Order: sequence, then C-alpha cells, then structure tokens
Amino acid sequence: MNRVDVLIVGGGLMGLALARALEPSRFTLALVDAGAPPSLPPATEVEVSGAHVRSGVDPRVSAMSPSSVALLTRLGGLPSGEFVCPFTRMSVWDAGGTGRIEFDAGEIKEPALGTIVENRRMLVALLSAAMKQDNLEIRHGTTIAAIERSTDGYTVDIGNGETIECSLLVGADGGNSIVRKACGIRSVTWEYDQKAIVTTVMTEAPHRGVAHQRFLSTGPLALLPLASDNLVSIVWSSTRAESLLALTDEDFCEQLSEASEFVLGRVVATDDRFAFGLRQAHAVRYVRPHLVLVGDAAHTIHPLAGQGANLGLADVSSLAGVLNDCHFSGQSPGDIHVLRRYERARAPANAVTGLAMEAFKRLYGNEHPLVIWARNAGTRMVGASPNIKSLLMRWAAGR
Ligand SMILES: Cc1cc2nc3c(=O)[nH]c(=O)nc-3n(C[C@H](O)[C@H](O)[C@H](O)COP(=O)(O)OP(=O)(O)OC[C@H]3O[C@@H](n4cnc5c(N)ncnc54)[C@H](O)[C@@H]3O)c2cc1C
Repeated sequence: MNRVDVLIVGGGLMGLALARALEPSRFTLALVDAGAPPSLPPATEVEVSGAHVRSGVDPRVSAMSPSSVALLTRLGGLPSGEFVCPFTRMSVWDAGGTGRIEFDAGEIKEPALGTIVENRRMLVALLSAAMKQDNLEIRHGTTIAAIERSTDGYTVDIGNGETIECSLLVGADGGNSIVRKACGIRSVTWEYDQKAIVTTVMTEAPHRGVAHQRFLSTGPLALLPLASDNLVSIVWSSTRAESLLALTDEDFCEQLSEASEFVLGRVVATDDRFAFGLRQAHAVRYVRPHLVLVGDAAHTIHPLAGQGANLGLADVSSLAGVLNDCHFSGQSPGDIHVLRRYERARAPANAVTGLAMEAFKRLYGNEHPLVIWARNAGTRMVGASPNIKSLLMRWAAGR
C-alpha cells in the first residue's frame, strides 16, 4: 500500500464510518490507527456484589440521533436490537428551581428521540463491515511518525521505514489530532473546569425507556436508558469529578441518587467509573488542498446535549457525499474546490452547535438568583411552547 487515493488517519467512529461511506467511490483507501482493533469482552451475566455491579456494558455510550442511526444502519455500524435502547421521552430539569421540559418523540412524529448505543459495539460493527471492503486496507497499531506535503498530496511516514502517499489525507484522529497540528491548522480551544464521569449504574426503579438530564450548578447529569430496564449509563459532568471518583461505591451511589433527585429511585450499584477532561475546540479551517478534518479532529464540544458524535457523523455523510460525487465526475479527491463544499456545509453548523453548548453550560453554571429565576422562567416557557419544543427536538434529531 504505497500510494492510495485517500488515507484516513484514525479508526474511531468517524474514521471507520468514513471508510465505509466511501465504499461506493471505488477510490483506493487506507486507514491507520494507533490503537489495537476494537473488540468485545466475552459475554457475561450482570453480576452484583454489594454496591458494585459488573454490567458488561461499555462505559462509553452515545445518544445517537435518528439521522445518525439511519447512517450507521446503512454503513453496517448499528449493533443488533438487543444491544441498543431507543428512547421516546426525555425529561430535563433544573436543580436550581422549578424549570422542567418534557420531550416526547410523538410530538415530532418520530419513532424515537434518539438511541443509546455502546461505542465499542458501533466500532466493532463498523470494523467488521469495513474488513470486507475490497477498496480498503486497515492497519491498527500504526502511529504516524511524520507528515510531508508532496506535489500532488501528502507523504505519511508510518514508522519502520514505511511511507504512504495519498491524494487526500483525512484527519479523523480525535481531539488531539496530530494531522491537524502537523498541517499547521490552528484550533480555538478552551478547557472546561468540569470532568465527565461515565459509568453504568443499576437503579431501584426501571427507566422505561426515558432519558433524564438534571442541570446542577456543578454541571449536568445525564441518565441514559440501556437495553436492560434497570441499567442506566450516566454522564455526570462536574466541577467535583475528582472527589466523586474517589468515593466508595456505596457513597457514590448515595450521592448519585441525591443528584438525580431519586428520579429512578435509589441507585443501588455502580460499575467501574472513568473520568474524561472536557474542552471546547474548533479548527479555524477544516480543509487545505489535499487535506480534510472530520469529527473531533475538527471540533470538540461539551457532552451536555450528546451531540459530538452526531455532528461528526453529519461531517462524514457530507464529506462522503462530495467525494463520491467527485470520483464519478473524474475530479481528484484532494481538489480544494471539492473539499470546500464540505467545509461550507459543515463548519457553520458545527460552530453554531458549539456556541449553543457554551451558552447552556454558562447559563446553568450560574448561581446568581436573578439568572436562576430567568432561566427557570425561560425553561417553563419553552416547556409550554409546542413550537419551540418541536424545533429543539428536530434539531437534536438531526432533521
Ligand atoms: C463523556 C462523553 C460523552 C459523550 N456522549 C456523547 C453522546 O451521547 N452523543 C454524541 O453524539 N457524542 C457524545 N460524545 C462525543 C463523542 O464521543 C465524540 O465526538 C466521538 O467519539 C469522536 O469520534 P472521532 O472518531 O472523531 O474521535 P476519536 O473517538 O477520538 O477517535 C480517534 C481515533 O484516532 C486514533 N488516533 C489518534 N491519534 C492517532 C495517530 N497519531 N495515529 C493514528 N491514529 C491515531 C485513535 O486511536 C482513535 O481510534 C461524548 C463525549 C464524551 C467525552
């Protein structure tokens, strides 16, 4: 594989989805990833011991919008029904007052507002479909050593004296993108004072397919329903993440029960907990001649509305659209005029979502009594307005 049309760096959700979406182009494709191939642990029963549960569920899950679910299904990246949980209702409320909004998929005539899917199951499904693709070569355990611009593309040093030349280099290598940095694209970035704790917990009451989100002054707490009725995946963004992480399982369950206002009764057991630093970042350019960025390599947002991967998959769909077209019209995939079509379609939409997440984060983190009063009044007003609610639901659904 010394020369390919398209080289994708990064085999996360976006890199693999893009490789799959470019199958019809018949471009020659290569994908390299620094990590090991994604895999599933052996299937086990859920085991509870005191306040600890071994759930067998990936601590990283994503709330996929109906548009993302449709795309993943087309690309072979949606795990089978027993491992996903569509949710039709979502309840969002403010810990600092009486503001509450209930969203219902029926109001926008969608079968679901979203679907909770384990990240590793999506990765495994996409990889297994991608391995059958005859225009694609995949290499795991391969880290980029150097990237150099050539006359008609890029030459990428993948170590051990091996290089790959390509007409189009795709940076799908996540928030710390080496491709973005090596190609000198600046990113406007700021770190949040919160970390997100993710884990799976067992609750006293069944979730009945409802997603919950409570905005605390220390950060938002999301309880996302899983395929089993008493298991919930949590994303708890908090300024107190380190101390929450250090608690015993018993104390963590107690604090989580209180933070969730016992909306699913008591939290009875927790799986292992993990914390992720949070940041907002937006690359000032998504494209250069022979170069393009997708997903977190281009933009990273706060997970409070569960939109990061959805935006990335919308990037994939848009980029694959322009590249598949350009193949059939005989243009080079590295042609800047082709790539700008993608940038024009995606950069403004991603920037607006990033700004909205920032506004939510600041609004709900503010403890000034006047701000609390105003946001509760605003939340109640939105909750009482079917038109605004529909607009929000359609936006989150990717419609
Ligand atoms: C706590 C949390 C909860 C979230 N919840 C949701 C949600 O509910 N819904 C939603 O839509 N989004 C959510 N997101 C966002 C979502 O997880 C990300 O947007 C998405 O995973 C980004 O995928 P990616 O493929 O762009 O990047 P990544 O997943 O970071 O993948 C990058 C890949 O590139 C590889 N790589 C990195 N560097 C190199 C290198 N130098 N050489 C070769 N390979 C390299 C890595 O090994 C990795 O496989 C959440 C994020 C967080 C932190």
